[in-house]
Amino acid sequence: MELPFAESFRIKMIEPIYKSSREERLNWIQKAKYNLFNIKSNQVFVDLLTDSGTGAMSDKQWSEMMLGDESYAGASSYYKLKNAIKNIMGFDYFLPTHQGRAAENVLFSVLVKEGDIVPGNSHFDTTKGHIEFRKATAVDCTIDEAFDTTKQHPFKGNVDLNKLDDVLKSYASKVPFVIITITNNTAGGQPVDLDNIKEVYSLCQTYGKMLIFDSARFAENAYFIKQRNPKYANSSIKEIVKEIYSYADATTMSAKKDAIVNMGGFIGMKSKSLFDKASVYNIMFEGFITYGGMSGRDMNALAQGLDENTEFSTLENRIEQVAYLGRKLVEYGVPVQEPFGGHAIFVDAKRFFPHIPKEHYLAQTLAVETYIEGGVRGVEIGSILADRDPITKLDRFPKLELMRLAIPRRTYTNNHMDYVAATLGNVFERRNSIKSGFRITHEAPILRHFTVELERI
Ligand SMILES: *Cc1c(COP(=O)(O)O)cnc(C)c1O
Repeated sequence: MELPFAESFRIKMIEPIYKSSREERLNWIQKAKYNLFNIKSNQVFVDLLTDSGTGAMSDKQWSEMMLGDESYAGASSYYKLKNAIKNIMGFDYFLPTHQGRAAENVLFSVLVKEGDIVPGNSHFDTTKGHIEFRKATAVDCTIDEAFDTTKQHPFKGNVDLNKLDDVLKSYASKVPFVIITITNNTAGGQPVDLDNIKEVYSLCQTYGKMLIFDSARFAENAYFIKQRNPKYANSSIKEIVKEIYSYADATTMSAKKDAIVNMGGFIGMKSKSLFDKASVYNIMFEGFITYGGMSGRDMNALAQGLDENTEFSTLENRIEQVAYLGRKLVEYGVPVQEPFGGHAIFVDAKRFFPHIPKEHYLAQTLAVETYIEGGVRGVEIGSILADRDPITKLDRFPKLELMRLAIPRRTYTNNHMDYVAATLGNVFERRNSIKSGFRITHEAPILRHFTVELERI
């Protein structure tokens, strides 16, 4: 018989996790004001809140930690990371930052000013936050197919070239750059095709605009290009990655995702003058340019992680596990975003709860019920995350109300995936007995989802 897929790693160290009871969870979630960010990690059995900084490092990464050079200036760890970024992504200049949003803060301090328009494909929440904080506007030019969770499309993260052209035509002088997020997290971990990247690049050339990548999951994006675009079927992940960045002027990177470290980030740049300007802000906000918010050991582990996670087998292990969970959920009838994303399965809360009004925060309702059912922590990617309109101050109801189940890299087994699927299956079975959701009792003026407090309607 054909041998089944199995992970190309084994486990050397384990971390026990606590199995709570339903009664305990009912009590904890109420005390947490129905915000899963307020739940303690030992109150969670399978934690799918995020794949950010939650992955398991390899033996080689841990070894690199011991070799970290903690010199303030000119540490060997800095040069190790500089070489890795140059070899893998092709950027001549880079600045280390403590995580992805810090890279955004530094780079956007140079590039974004009041009144600017920044088009892209579903900007990530911190990206949008850093744009709006500077009184500029993020314009989403993602293809319409991304907003129909039932529609099959190999590259739902793609930029709609007509939408982008309209923005560039109308506001050319106000656009500092175009940003492509790979993979498109907000639209469900959906990849962007290399053909699409090339087309966006040539449009940017026409209008004389920089093209910047938000690279948190660039390696997963490259894996999907290899799997889904026949032109790249025989290319290695590293070759595809090289080609992606041949079209980039700069990148911001959250290394907590595809570099499989617990903390870290960077900005990659091709231009010396951009690097010089960004260096000023890096020193102010992050640290000197040869460590910028990271210790030497962290830069070492990051360099090793970049190399490992641009190997096919590492990505296959991960993306196959995410798809395994997706297939189980489909089996149980749970409505999910298809095709499955690279880092997460997104459950469609509008299709899950067609009988509850959207003002009840459907995805949050689903996330709370999932936690109560099995101690599984997902996260709302819906109207709470979407925040209020900065001008009208009204709730923004995005096209998609999703609960994201993000799978940490190399952390859980497929038995955990079976458990998660059964948890969701049970909530789905009793969905009609859930008649209402939540209202907000307290919220922050920006990025409210982290601290929001809710009560049952
Ligand atoms: C996580 C993420 C960021 C922000 O990175 P942090 O390391 O969390 O600050 C930016 N963009 C995307 C697409 C992300 O997934």
